[in-house]
Amino acid sequence: MRYVSTRGRAPALSFEEATLAGLASDGGLYVPEAWPRLERAEIAAFAGLTYAETAARVMAPFVGDALAPDELLDLCRAAYGRFHHAGVAPLVQLDGRHWLLELFHGPTLAFKDVAMQLLGPLFERFLGESGRRLTVIGATSGDTGSAAIDALAGREGIELFMLHPAGRVSDVQRRQMTTVLAPNVHNVAVEGSFDDAQALVKALFGDAEFASRYHLSAVNSINWARLMAQVVYYFYAAVRLGAPDRPVAFSVPTGNFGDAFAGYVAARMGLPVAKLIVATNGNDIVHRALSAGDYSVGEVRATAAPSMDIQVSSNFERLLFDLHDRDGEVVARAMAGFEAERRMLLDDTRRGIAAALFASAAVEPDAMASTMRWACAEAGQLIDPHTGIGLAAARALEKSIAQDVTIVTLATAHPGKFRDAVERATGTRPGLPQRMAGLFEREERCARLPAELGAVRGWIEERAG
Ligand SMILES: *Cc1c(COP(=O)(O)O)cnc(C)c1O
Repeated sequence: MRYVSTRGRAPALSFEEATLAGLASDGGLYVPEAWPRLERAEIAAFAGLTYAETAARVMAPFVGDALAPDELLDLCRAAYGRFHHAGVAPLVQLDGRHWLLELFHGPTLAFKDVAMQLLGPLFERFLGESGRRLTVIGATSGDTGSAAIDALAGREGIELFMLHPAGRVSDVQRRQMTTVLAPNVHNVAVEGSFDDAQALVKALFGDAEFASRYHLSAVNSINWARLMAQVVYYFYAAVRLGAPDRPVAFSVPTGNFGDAFAGYVAARMGLPVAKLIVATNGNDIVHRALSAGDYSVGEVRATAAPSMDIQVSSNFERLLFDLHDRDGEVVARAMAGFEAERRMLLDDTRRGIAAALFASAAVEPDAMASTMRWACAEAGQLIDPHTGIGLAAARALEKSIAQDVTIVTLATAHPGKFRDAVERATGTRPGLPQRMAGLFEREERCARLPAELGAVRGWIEERAG
């Protein structure tokens, strides 16, 4: 399988090269040159497979000959063996219609682990082969950082620099990052917002000399391998609920549109998905784009679901590429216009194509909180605010979906990761899993730097290989 850029001007890459590269050199994102299709019988045969076995089957066409089938299966077994639930991603029934898919049983309690635990070994495997070194730089509002740090700590050939906004991540999120003392992990608290941290990272990647001298790479969801790993759980869940004979709908708490795009990929591969509900909080750029064709950047609003407090949803570009018949030139022009004007319009034809699969809703704080209370009262489930937004959208849109279709909301974070917000909404303070005991006693290591490019670059140069 070869990978092409959504902007059509970067060279096509192998799976291995696309995994290590992150962003394409023309500013685009890598996608497979064609979507592989799974036959109905192949999907039906997933029934009874373990999560790791399902993962190896779903990912095989994307990996191609970059890994032997046994090696891919071994990597999946090792990655998902670190999850603290035998089913890896268990389904929980809420009522006759609604289910949760719990994606938070990994080491850092958010669904980012599902992809990151695979990305770590993939990086190490591909680097080991070439003797190359990588400097991974990222900005995080919390969950990506802790998942990346857990997955990459101590790995050969990788230095990891993770920037978070000082004082603006939850205490659990911060400690999950700063208490990892592996010498290749470097935490930086930036004196500014998440957007400031993100802008610094973009500036470092935009400095071609710096980027090539240190072999910069990205682990946010612009990285194709991450999305690929997320396609798996759509198959895993749907097959358990009767696919391919019965279609299933999913509701996806959305920020950067990576998770929702993975659901789109599953549908393109042949999984019968009745509807993909894109659930946003007040930062609703994707909802506005899908419902009204208006993809324009607003002010970031801070909410109780901080991992979705995003205005520019990078992965939307991957959907645009397909909506424009995979014409990279058209996407490159559209994105140049968007970067200049901070807005883009989606015409009715494209919107109509998207609407065949996608529905969307923006969820206000009150609806989120009352849904969290409903899950508690109805099914005895404490859910985190991100999941609350997904479930609120699922319930709001259930009437637009055929009555006999089951709706699965992706539960993207453990409630214990957002204890204060869960307690505010439900009156119950969730506990942390036993394995997190001691988090608040451990030593922390973190630098604090002003949100200035020179200061951050200098600090990284002193430490990068
Ligand atoms: C990252 C994250 C999301 C949003 O996922 P995207 O792929 O960025 O749309 C939702 N919930 C939680 C808990 C997250 O960490």
